[in-house]
Amino acid sequence: MSDEYLDIPNCPKCKEGHRYKLKVERAIVMKFLTMSDMSEQPRKVRITRLFTCPIKNEEFEANLTLTDTSSNRIKSVEVEGITNDNNKI
Ligand SMILES: [Zn+2]
Repeated sequence: MSDEYLDIPNCPKCKEGHRYKLKVERAIVMKFLTMSDMSEQPRKVRITRLFTCPIKNEEFEANLTLTDTSSNRIKSVEVEGITNDNNKI
C-alpha cells in the first residue's frame, strides 16, 4: 500500500488546482527465474475516479494514469481526500 498524489490542475467545477491523496494498492507478482529474460514493460493504467471539489463541494470525474509492471500490478485505487498544502500549481 502506498500513498500517491494526483494534481488536478484545472478543476472542472471551480477552475482551480487541487491536489488529492490516493491510496494505491499494488500486488507484487512473483516471477520465476526462467522468465527473468523477459523485458519488463511498464504499462499505463487509466483509471476513472470521482473527486470532490473542495470549493464548490461538488463531485466530478477525472481520469488518472498510473504505471504498473508485470511484477507490480495495481489492485485498487482509492481517493483518500484533498491535501491542504500550499503547493499552488
Ligand atoms: Zn474545484
